Amino acid sequence: MYDGEARIEVILLGIPAVLLILINGIVYLAAVASFPTPLQVSGPVVFLGVVDIGLAILLGFVLLFYLLSDDSLRRGSLSALIVILGAFSLWLGGGFVVGFVLAIIAGVIGIVFAQSPLPPKTPEGLYSQPTTPVVSQTTPHSEALLPRSAGSMIVRYCPKCDARNSGDARICQNCGATLYGGT
Ligand SMILES: [Zn+2]
Repeated sequence: MYDGEARIEVILLGIPAVLLILINGIVYLAAVASFPTPLQVSGPVVFLGVVDIGLAILLGFVLLFYLLSDDSLRRGSLSALIVILGAFSLWLGGGFVVGFVLAIIAGVIGIVFAQSPLPPKTPEGLYSQPTTPVVSQTTPHSEALLPRSAGSMIVRYCPKCDARNSGDARICQNCGATLYGGT
């Protein structure tokens, strides 16, 4: 499993966890508002509810930063934070315990797969080619775009990495760059 796939699972588990913890907090406040309770009871319950809602919002932001992070070390740290916040939520009701369990699983998956590389976004990423096009020193760039004859075989040189490709190739076999003038 790629980290990219793990990221989807972390988000799919994390969002219900946030919602459950949030609803748990709202239920505390709603319960106090609905039933006449002495101040000794309502005070701590309101406190729990407010802290729980705050925790849900914080967890939501951590999930958002996790989703947007391209750095594996940061994703690992944010996943650890998801576990810590999830564990802390149990003290406040843990999103009916289900939210707590989902957050812990999401965080652990995030930690385990934070070390795996993300799938390459471009074909170039596969081969870690330089980002600047390598222009052949012996051949002018414009000429490199055109097919060249080598013996009886028509070949096409890549304008980006100068790799040799067959004459009918549309993309470079080495770096995946588009070969212009394809037939
Ligand atoms: Zn190439």
